[in-house]
Amino acid sequence: MKIDNPSQTLVSGGAAEAGALEVLTPITVAYGDGIGPEIMEATLKVLQAAGARIAPEMIEIGEKLYRSGHSSGIAPEAWDSLRRTKVFLKSPITTPSGGGYKSLNVTIRKTLGLYANVRPCVSYSPFVATKHPKLNLVIVRENEEDLYAGIEHRQTDEVFQCLKLITRPGCEKIVRYAFEYARANGRHKVTCMSKDNIMKMTDGLFHQVFDEIRVEYPQIASDHMIIDIGAARLATRPELFDVIVTPNLYGDIISDVAAEMTGSVGLAGSANIGEHVAMFEAIHGSAPDIAGKGIANPSGLLLGAVMMLVHIRQADVAAKVHNAWLCTLEDGVFTADLQGQGRAQIGRPFGSMDFADAIVERLGRLPQQFKPISYQNPPLPTGPVAPLYVRRPAAKKAMVGVDVFVHQSESSADVLALHLQANQTPALRLLMITNRGVKVWPGGFPETFCTDHWRCRFMAAQADGEITQRDIVALLGQLTDAGVDVIKTENLCTFDGVQGFALGQGQ
Ligand code: NAD
Repeated sequence: MKIDNPSQTLVSGGAAEAGALEVLTPITVAYGDGIGPEIMEATLKVLQAAGARIAPEMIEIGEKLYRSGHSSGIAPEAWDSLRRTKVFLKSPITTPSGGGYKSLNVTIRKTLGLYANVRPCVSYSPFVATKHPKLNLVIVRENEEDLYAGIEHRQTDEVFQCLKLITRPGCEKIVRYAFEYARANGRHKVTCMSKDNIMKMTDGLFHQVFDEIRVEYPQIASDHMIIDIGAARLATRPELFDVIVTPNLYGDIISDVAAEMTGSVGLAGSANIGEHVAMFEAIHGSAPDIAGKGIANPSGLLLGAVMMLVHIRQADVAAKVHNAWLCTLEDGVFTADLQGQGRAQIGRPFGSMDFADAIVERLGRLPQQFKPISYQNPPLPTGPVAPLYVRRPAAKKAMVGVDVFVHQSESSADVLALHLQANQTPALRLLMITNRGVKVWPGGFPETFCTDHWRCRFMAAQADGEITQRDIVALLGQLTDAGVDVIKTENLCTFDGVQGFALGQGQ
């Protein structure tokens, strides 16, 4: 490994005595914020000692960049490095709260198309105490969309909105990845978790795509669970699960839960896989509460680095590091987060660097209690790589109505309906008003609590009729002239005759 001169990619390596030159793989490295520098230093120390054939290029991202005026938390030169090396080993970063800062983690994942977040969670009982000694599962989390699109608006005095975007390409890519991952890693079952009993269109699409793709993998068992019971079962009977594929937010939450169930959130590594670039990290954050104390557990980042070594086809080094780390646990060496939690722990907890030294001392050894790890390099593509998503021909789209969202405080649904009906156009007729999704007109209940945010559904006046954008513009013009405060509109369309919008609750 060569840190000082990142541009150099050929050095005399393990075979130096024979005068052979070794090819180094350039990787981009960010030390991050909080405990980031401590765990990165420990990780790089182990990689170097293990003979990782890498040439790290350091970039600065995170808090320092935010504070120096880069509101995105990353400078243009850093993007250049990432796009050149295509491999990123990243420590956690702190997203400053408030102030309009966007999460750099989310920005990097989306900008570089890192659509699959792979989070293996494994128990290391009895050396790390856990109530779930058989826990050994992988969470494959969709990484680019869902509520993490971060499209949020304040719409009225009382109502704030965050858009949940789920796409067919996003679903197809992540579900296929989960099955391919299972096949390549000897996993026998893929469980989809979604909330499609409530979000029938967005989570419904995720579930539907899962059902479409699972039949292509008859050798792998598959099932679906609603996320609430799925999460409950995960927390009580994790041995039921092998690979879990799920949208972004659910995956983020259940992977922290699963990692913590193994003994510490500090134990799990994570890979963010894209078609062009891949990023490797710990699943935990920058842990500001323990930053600078030198006590953080570097294991999550180290196991992320192990995944990186396999990705860059250094399976030999990956296995060497992983096995030495397992030996370290077996020998009772532990960091403060695991204190008092395992069998045979020796003495006081080790600091991050001492823990790294303990791993280095054990390089070349195989664990006695845990099954030794062996990795294989991923196969090289033998021909053209099939595209991950093939766009289908566009559906026949027909516009049949419009939802007009209105800000109005001092009114009831009945009064608002009268006002809207008095100002509707010949092409569009008021069908229904909902408040927070539940129908309040016609036939609303006085018990229903209403905010100042009303969704007013206008449908084409002629049964099965189509409308045009001009009909919507005419309606908006008339409503605006009548003093209606329109926040936004959503077109109501059918696609090949199938309704592309949900009914109101109670409609
Ligand atoms: P966190 O994961 O940083 O910390 C949660 C708890 O776990 C803390 O008590 C912490 O001390 C402990 N912990 C975490 N990692 C540990 C380790 N390696 N060793 C020992 N203990 C460890 O979560 P948080 O406090 O909610 O978030 C802090 C910051 O991290 C926030 O700014 C958040 O946005 C950011 N974050 C970044 C990433 C990332 O960069 N990928 C991920 C999650 C959170």
